[in-house]
Amino acid sequence: MTNKIKLLPDHVANQIAAGEVIQRPASVVKELLENAVDAGSQIIQLIIKDAGKTLVRVVDDGMGMNSIDIRLAFERHATSKIKVAEDLFALQTKGFRGEALASIAAIARVETHTRTKDEEVSHHLKIEGSNVIEQTFSTQPKGTSIAVKSLFYNIPARRNFLKSDTVELRHIIDEFHRVALAHPGINFLFFNNGNEIFDLPVTSFRKRIVNVFGTKLDSLLVPVEESTSLAKLEGFVLKPSQSKKTRGQHFFFVNNRFIKSSFLHHAIIKAFEGLLKPGYHPGYFLFLNIDTKRIDINIHPTKTEVKFDDEQSLYAILRSAIKHSLGIFQIVPTLDFLQNQAIELPYNYKDKTPSTPPIEVDSSFNPFKNVKSKVPLNILKLEGLHSDEKTEYTHDLKSSKQLIETPQITRVFQLFSKYIVCPLKTSMLLIDQHRAHQRILYERFLSAITSKKGISQQLLFPIFITLNPQQLEQFKETEDILDSLGFQIKLKDHKTLEVIGAPELCPSHKIENVIESILSESDQISDNQHFSYADQVAKSLAKSLSIKTGDSLLIIEQQRLLDDFFGCKETTVSPFNKKIFITLEKSEIDQKLS
Ligand code: ADP
Ligand code: MG
Repeated sequence: MTNKIKLLPDHVANQIAAGEVIQRPASVVKELLENAVDAGSQIIQLIIKDAGKTLVRVVDDGMGMNSIDIRLAFERHATSKIKVAEDLFALQTKGFRGEALASIAAIARVETHTRTKDEEVSHHLKIEGSNVIEQTFSTQPKGTSIAVKSLFYNIPARRNFLKSDTVELRHIIDEFHRVALAHPGINFLFFNNGNEIFDLPVTSFRKRIVNVFGTKLDSLLVPVEESTSLAKLEGFVLKPSQSKKTRGQHFFFVNNRFIKSSFLHHAIIKAFEGLLKPGYHPGYFLFLNIDTKRIDINIHPTKTEVKFDDEQSLYAILRSAIKHSLGIFQIVPTLDFLQNQAIELPYNYKDKTPSTPPIEVDSSFNPFKNVKSKVPLNILKLEGLHSDEKTEYTHDLKSSKQLIETPQITRVFQLFSKYIVCPLKTSMLLIDQHRAHQRILYERFLSAITSKKGISQQLLFPIFITLNPQQLEQFKETEDILDSLGFQIKLKDHKTLEVIGAPELCPSHKIENVIESILSESDQISDNQHFSYADQVAKSLAKSLSIKTGDSLLIIEQQRLLDDFFGCKETTVSPFNKKIFITLEKSEIDQKLS
């Protein structure tokens, strides 16, 4: 009788286990960066090619490994970070499972150089799919360099599963942010395809945030600090005005380790109660320091989840500390008010000296006269305009298709600075001006992108926009689309855009905001493969440039809006899937009044 059960060969077991730790290039980045931090490095360089699919290399100046350690490092459950089980409850390092390097070596070609401070020579080790190919001496400086090439070369199914370079790069940048933010005392450099995208000098935590995310953030950080017997909390939340619907800046570190906890995220949201629009999330960079005995990090292979022994108290501490900080921020609203105003000044006006506004006096004004003050000016104009006009609609409109056939619409007025009311023969249309205009702009921009025939207008003065490293990466992805829309942009000195032309539909004072939102919004959505880039850019532009609720429109503008709107391919919903208009039948009105 032969037995059925066999032990899996090591390399197969390693491949299976690798799947848990290494899902994508970003997982390699995380593990290598954390090892470099644990090695006590002062300078850490991350070098990637093709979003990490071809190469992820981390070079550090840390403690290095000797000739035996370099071999052991790639064995499963080989770690220098714990010796006995109790150590698990007093972790000061990032690693401890001793499986990252073994996993990586099982599914890639790995080349390591390493030297300790006491040795004259460095050691060089080459491993492919868990097999040692070569071990020699080399002459490298103190520290370790690990290069991971052709990730998943021996598991094609996993390789095919990887997303586009943009998406994979975004995941890598996310991991890089997490490690770099937690260690402002280390100099991090990051090169992508030979271009330096980050050089973060040793600095304070606040400055590190600003160096990573751009100087704009500096004035938006609200400090949070609390010290209790259970835990110490410090860091920053972003002002409520910075809250976002999607992937905001959510950084929560426990003992310098990036952690995901929906429970504690909820505590933070609770602290912002009443300050956020529904569905919006606040940004935060928070550090929790807690006795290592009170937490268990060992519940997740990638160590991004943690168990606390007293979650309820932590929840309360977080909530009240943040609420308190926001309270302090709220009682100095004047400062904030001034700051926002400065930010919102149109670009062209920034450097102008203010002039005295002209004073207009209405000499016929009589406060006691019962004027029709509540009637919008537009309606008055409308009445005048149409008093002897007899244009009627020849047929009623039921569907959007019929709408396109309508004769020129003349009898319209604006209601609540929000709707355009358009009376028809036996019904009435109530059109949301903002959504209708979004629809118009969206279709125009989309067709400009697809036909590559966006009409461009030369600017009188070029506009300069400084980009942060992510925006820069995003710009490279979006450049073609911006070009086909009619933007004429040159990249200067690797971080400044010079805009010399823009689409006709984009007023010059909005250019800076529009470009910035395209570059940050497309960053948020690129994970979503269902929508093409072009579509997202067209939406972003339509959102930024559309007429808003609250804008009052001249009668001629209202008419133009309706004409353009009825020329759209789709008239029922906005690009964001919101209903654009409703029809009120005369019979419905009659019934209400019966
Ligand atoms: P862990 O980090 O959980 O211990 P890893 O597989 O990531 O497991 O690494 C195994 C061991 O290799 C580490 O415990 C450490 O001793 C050594 N090591 C890995 N990377 C470095 C590095 N950059 N510098 C020095 N030693 C390293
Ligand atoms: Mg490790």
